[in-house]
Amino acid sequence: MKISKRDALAWFQFFSSLPEEEELMSGQQEIALSVFAQIETAVSARHEQMLGEIPGLKSLAGRTYYVGDDALFPQGCKSCLLGTGLSAVRKTNRCNAACRFCYDYGALNSQPPVGEGMWEIGGTKFYEADIDLLLSIQKKPTGISYVYLEPFMEIEKYYGVIRKFHEAGIHQHMYTNGINATRENLKALADAGLNELRFNLGATNCADAVIRNMEIAAEYFPAVGIETPMTPEFFDAFQLKKDRILSSGIRFMNCAELHLNDNNIDNYAGENLYMCRQGYISPIFSRNIALTLMKQAAQERWPILVHDCSNRTKFARDLNLKAKEGGWFGASTYGCEFAKLPYAYFLPVLQDDSFSFLEEEPMPAGFGLGDIVL
Ligand code: SF4
Repeated sequence: MKISKRDALAWFQFFSSLPEEEELMSGQQEIALSVFAQIETAVSARHEQMLGEIPGLKSLAGRTYYVGDDALFPQGCKSCLLGTGLSAVRKTNRCNAACRFCYDYGALNSQPPVGEGMWEIGGTKFYEADIDLLLSIQKKPTGISYVYLEPFMEIEKYYGVIRKFHEAGIHQHMYTNGINATRENLKALADAGLNELRFNLGATNCADAVIRNMEIAAEYFPAVGIETPMTPEFFDAFQLKKDRILSSGIRFMNCAELHLNDNNIDNYAGENLYMCRQGYISPIFSRNIALTLMKQAAQERWPILVHDCSNRTKFARDLNLKAKEGGWFGASTYGCEFAKLPYAYFLPVLQDDSFSFLEEEPMPAGFGLGDIVL
């Protein structure tokens, strides 16, 4: 069913007006899915066109795209995409920023605590002393990452655990907004054995102080990079400071495709959105910015690797994780973040005259606008 954009808009206006608790009937679901597919097909065609315009585009075993020197590809991403998968460690439940793109926006002060002296690894609570037991029983992962809010809120708590995993030979990477980083704590973290530090530069809109902290970090860590959601604000700020950022000593930039959930979607209401493989919902601008930066990096021969951390990459990541966990054929944790699909947020893209569906067909009998579709 290749629904027309006109019909799609009319149906989504109707779906948006339904009471919260009312579920779509199966025929209505078919219409809704055909609308999402029409939007995604148009978005994917644009992505393919943009990928085709990137000189020297490379892929990591077909799982993700990048440009630049292979030796700079982040080990943490290799572990995630090719190794045992994303092994997440959680500790800090607070942050000193409030990014509009944050998955916890509006709920940053109410994230569940992991517990005094405890660490959450693979969903289980451990004391630091338990890590020896864990390593003696379970097969060690190729890499782990520290993923919960802002670790530099209490970075001194991390050194001991990082040292233990370092001694076990496990690659470790961490994300930070860089605000609380100092020469002293960066050095201590590197001494403990953290391999890779990734700065969310969009959190401060490329603040000079954070770029300075990236320069300092590059003195101590084997690998420092940027990982930040692609937004128009980041793109503009990055272009203004591009030369300083590219000469800061960083090795890579992971261009994360922003995806939305109940917490942050209102910050992007009014933007053109699409749904990727009936899973993540993203502003269309986000991956377009990533691909624009990759093309610019290739054309200008930037000294860093630029990586397309797109929804497709997350899809590959989640397939890899399940495969390594021994999941059944096709199993994945990739899916939609919304309990109920937010149809109203797709009205802007359907009302945008500059966005077209590639192909439209008349609706089959019984699925017309005047029909009662159940
Ligand atoms: S720095 Fe990270 S955790 Fe903190 S608000 Fe921004 S995105 Fe969220």
